[in-house]
Amino acid sequence: MRAAVFNPAISTPEHLLTLEDVPKPQLAPGEVLLRVIACGVCRTDLHIVEGDLPPLRPSVIPGHQVVGEVVDGATPELPLGTHAGAIWLGGTDGGCWFCRHQMENLCDHPVFTGYTIHGGYAEFVAVRAGFAIPLPPRVDTPSAAPLLCAGIIGFRSLRVAGVEPGERIGLYGFGSSAALAIQVLHSWQCEVYVVTRGEAHRQAARAAGARWVGDEDARPPVALDRALTFAPAGKVVVSALSALRKGGVVAINAVHLDQMPAFDYDTLLWGERQIRSVANVTRQDARDFLDLAARLNIRPRIVRFALEQANEALEAVKHETEDGSAVLVL
Ligand SMILES: [Zn+2]
Ligand SMILES: [Zn+2]
Repeated sequence: MRAAVFNPAISTPEHLLTLEDVPKPQLAPGEVLLRVIACGVCRTDLHIVEGDLPPLRPSVIPGHQVVGEVVDGATPELPLGTHAGAIWLGGTDGGCWFCRHQMENLCDHPVFTGYTIHGGYAEFVAVRAGFAIPLPPRVDTPSAAPLLCAGIIGFRSLRVAGVEPGERIGLYGFGSSAALAIQVLHSWQCEVYVVTRGEAHRQAARAAGARWVGDEDARPPVALDRALTFAPAGKVVVSALSALRKGGVVAINAVHLDQMPAFDYDTLLWGERQIRSVANVTRQDARDFLDLAARLNIRPRIVRFALEQANEALEAVKHETEDGSAVLVL
């Protein structure tokens, strides 16, 4: 099969991935084979291929927002022909303290799709059957691909931040994840304040119905109940913290963050303000969000790339040049 492969030994900044013919996955017991229809390109993929996350194997096929069709290894929940998604959480040990306490996102021995196991920048991908998420009937492919990471992690971030209907919520950064989260927030009658760099993202935020939009140095005109940060920059977290009311929460949605700047405890964190990180997702987050997305008819705006253009797609994510989520369509 054709695959875009990350091989740390030969990867260069100009050619992060190489297009290769590789063997089709051999199914292990309990796995299903998906024929990939589309795979979203996520900032985490960039962190993997640029080495912000250490390589864990000699080579890997990235991609963890996979929409595919079950073509082998079918189960009663996943009959042949079913449309199913593969997500970042590709497996857990099922037995550690976190797995036994409904926190499988924090599992001690996790398997991550497109990082510790091969992902969806390929024609086929093998997925543990219990971790393939059947797509609700009304979910459209391939535009569903960004729902599977950007969407689910944004939804989990709303949960981690403890968002209540009608609250004032800040979104710091307005990429794929925030553009989906704002649709959920509006369905909960929240007022959304967006701080983001890049005029294209500010325009997208206005078009999505944000109550107020500002550039990276601006401060929302009201105190926020909660804020979500999406940039891999610690200073953004401090900026979000400075906009919170007492008792407010900042949820950091970033797998990798540069240095967190020093900040003044008395004015910024005192008053029971909280900073929380958002780490991975659970299968329940995935199912709950996909059901909600189907009910609200959330359709991500996507920009299509061929598998052969995987490097261009990563560039587009890196430089935020596209007004929409980059998706490899096979
Ligand atoms: Zn576990
Ligand atoms: Zn992702």
